[in-house]
Amino acid sequence: MEENNSNSEKGKKDQSNKVEKTVQYDLDTCTRCMACITSCPTHCLEEVDGDPVQTRPKDCIKCGTCEAICPVGAVKLIK
Ligand code: SF4
Ligand code: SF4
Repeated sequence: MEENNSNSEKGKKDQSNKVEKTVQYDLDTCTRCMACITSCPTHCLEEVDGDPVQTRPKDCIKCGTCEAICPVGAVKLIK
């Protein structure tokens, strides 16, 4: 059996349960077409109370599809 004690040194583990959002919505501009939600390949965007929300930021692969598909430029990928 192998032991691997080096994993604990991977850093910033204390922040792992609070994942930052990777996209920013301008809900004043958004027309609620929900194209961003249906286009996200990893299903990390959802409609919540009528608004698009990134509910699973940890699943985002930063592909930029949501940003590219929005017809009014209301989604911004945070890099
Ligand atoms: S694609 Fe743009 S306009 Fe449509 S719901 Fe998403 S943010 Fe809003
Ligand atoms: S960048 Fe890609 S994976 Fe991330 S929320 Fe947008 S469409 Fe989904």
